Amino acid sequence: MNVIYTDNNATTKVADEVIEEMMPYFGELYGNPSSMHTFGDQVGKKVKQARQRVADLINADPDEIVFTSCGTESDNSAIYAAINAFPERKHIITSNVEHPAIKNLFSHLAKKEGYEVTFVPVDKKGQLNTKVLYESMSENTAIISLMWANNETGVIFPIEEVAQKAREKGIVFHTDAVQATGKLDIDVKKTGVDMLSLSGHKIHAPKGIGVLYIKKGFKFTPYLIGGHQEDGRRGGTENTAFIIGLGKACELAKNNLELMNTEVKELRDYLQSQLLEKIAGTTVNGVIDNRLPNTLSIGFDAVEGESILLLLDREGICASSGSACTSGSLDPSHVLVAMEVPFKSAHGTIRFSLSHYNTKDEMDHIITAMVPIIEKLRLMSPFWKDGKMV
Ligand code: PLP
Repeated sequence: MNVIYTDNNATTKVADEVIEEMMPYFGELYGNPSSMHTFGDQVGKKVKQARQRVADLINADPDEIVFTSCGTESDNSAIYAAINAFPERKHIITSNVEHPAIKNLFSHLAKKEGYEVTFVPVDKKGQLNTKVLYESMSENTAIISLMWANNETGVIFPIEEVAQKAREKGIVFHTDAVQATGKLDIDVKKTGVDMLSLSGHKIHAPKGIGVLYIKKGFKFTPYLIGGHQEDGRRGGTENTAFIIGLGKACELAKNNLELMNTEVKELRDYLQSQLLEKIAGTTVNGVIDNRLPNTLSIGFDAVEGESILLLLDREGICASSGSACTSGSLDPSHVLVAMEVPFKSAHGTIRFSLSHYNTKDEMDHIITAMVPIIEKLRLMSPFWKDGKMV
């Protein structure tokens, strides 16, 4: 059976061009980029090129790029660097819809290290309550960390505006741009963020490689203390093949950005409009006109998301549900709860997240599959009667 993959916010296919670029560095070109000999140095040159390619994608300087093992490590490194830079400040700010890489770290810092945390709420459309955010900022605030775009709904936060407010108050500003990278035009110079995280496996590079952008001049302390690698900002011999692959993926992402915001967005909009038209009791989660171009979080009243996923899986269609699947429960995710999505619709939420590898035929296949799936599940649902939710 052919797989229709619409779970690209979870992870992406590694691009053929990326695999090709990486292959020699698993085999004959195994030198250490820090070595003095030519054999190692030729790998070093390729790592340098990769650093430049990453920098080009986000309009950074290459020496502002630090390679890490993943988005989670980048997030952790950024937050610890900020609190180390301002040890006397005991207040930290984030939103209540962050990825666990930030959300759980902030909860940990509150519980184990005595930090006061403001979890800024969002409204019913997933938009940040900036009034609460700005009122909570004080001289005691060490860092504000906000995701550029939400992994479940795709809702985009006003990063440039918040970065400016943070700068005015002398507060470090970090953004988790793991989902925004390759989907939005990211310009760290224009935005003025202090630190930014991105992750390879969301942009067609392998899992297990990430980046932390650190603005020049920021007093950064390493999270992984060790050798002199990454200019003393992250110990550990470089994962050369993956770094080189990520460099290629960034180059491709830059070239594909327009495609993402035209053709991929059109496919997402087509899938959305067809599902809304063909299936009653259906709601899109998140603000319609300020979302990632590839993401559709859509709730079907009176059915279980997990049951939808199971039936989609039988058709070879991969998507995600809006449940807190990592906890093994069927409760709606913290993002949908924060948005106060009604319980019976939150339960039936599915996230489709597309890439430029998807086609219109695939969207038609999903639409054709979804109509009888929802019909069938509603026949069994105690919450659905006479064509509506009870
Ligand atoms: N931040 C966001 C918004 C994410 O979506 C993810 C991954 O799903 C991460 C951080 C973590 O990235 P990684 O899987 O590379 O650790």
